[in-house]
Amino acid sequence: MTHAIVAQQPGGPEVLDFTEIDRPVPGPGQLLIKVAAAGVNFIDTYQRGGMYQVPFPFTPGSEAAGTVEEVGEGVEDFAVGSRVATAEGSKCYAGYTLLDAAKALPVPDGVDDLTAAALPLQGMTAHYLINSSFRVEPGHTVLTHAGAGGVGLLLTQLLKERGARVITTVSSDAKEELAREAGADHVLRYEGFPHHIRELTGGKGVDVVYDGVGRNTFDGSLSCLRTRGTLVLFGAASGAVPPVDPQRLNSGGSLTLTRPSLGHFLLNAQERHWRSGEIFAAAANGNLKVRVGGTYPLAEAKSAHEDLEARRTTGKVLLVP
Ligand code: NDP
Repeated sequence: MTHAIVAQQPGGPEVLDFTEIDRPVPGPGQLLIKVAAAGVNFIDTYQRGGMYQVPFPFTPGSEAAGTVEEVGEGVEDFAVGSRVATAEGSKCYAGYTLLDAAKALPVPDGVDDLTAAALPLQGMTAHYLINSSFRVEPGHTVLTHAGAGGVGLLLTQLLKERGARVITTVSSDAKEELAREAGADHVLRYEGFPHHIRELTGGKGVDVVYDGVGRNTFDGSLSCLRTRGTLVLFGAASGAVPPVDPQRLNSGGSLTLTRPSLGHFLLNAQERHWRSGEIFAAAANGNLKVRVGGTYPLAEAKSAHEDLEARRTTGKVLLVP
């Protein structure tokens, strides 16, 4: 047996029950992972709440790090005892979880278990956002919302490393301090941010906005782009954006709008290893600081979801079985 979080039906954080389940058995091509820590991500709340459709009973969690306990038939790249992480797992809110070996990322020695669990999903997201959704070049001016969040802190550091000017939004003084430590050049509150962006850019607007907040910031994000700027809408922390008239992209200055997902940027082993390799190497050599802002026992997954949704968290939120 193993402990796991199971929701019987969609709903608020209170549907997350801490319970016992049978320890899973790896099939061909699978690994059984003893979970050291599972990452909590906003997508887990969308799935739990019914915004994204998943089958119930449902155990959340697509991110974890841990040790290979058993290997299924045909697995060649990993052995019992290997340290692995993933951003593409399922049912990771558990003591043990199954993982397709193809989606397992080897964890370098210089990266501890909590960092290994904190990095894959938000780190590879920050990586594809600045390299593949919109290629940021030195000298670009970038707005990224929620600068003290999990993605936000990593994104800001990668953007500064690239040589971009970074403007970010946060909701409190404590979050402002964290965003500044990560290297943000300007830290704004959400109130009136498009006006401040115009001032900071001499009326021109920014080259790109990375918007994971969604409904509450979308209009402002569109309005503070330069002519031919790009809005990368990558999340909905404040709710889903209502349907958009494409004509708005024209009147805004021939703008580009894209709505990406990490899975579409991990299409094969080469892409997976490029992104994870760069992110893990940066963490191992100290160039990328990973802030674990909250570590909760697995049994308290409900509190972790409550805190994430109520904007009480910073950096990464982890569950430890
Ligand atoms: P964060 O740690 O950034 O938490 C979300 C933050 O959003 C909050 O801390 C808060 O920061 C801000 N926020 C603003 N308005 C609200 C609101 N009304 N309710 C809740 N939070 C709000 O989360 P993640 O780093 O895990 O994810 C950030 C976004 O990126 C999410 O939308 C997520 O879905 C998305 N994402 C998308 C991926 C993709 O591939 N498309 C992959 C990974 C994440 P503050 O208090 O400072 O405003």
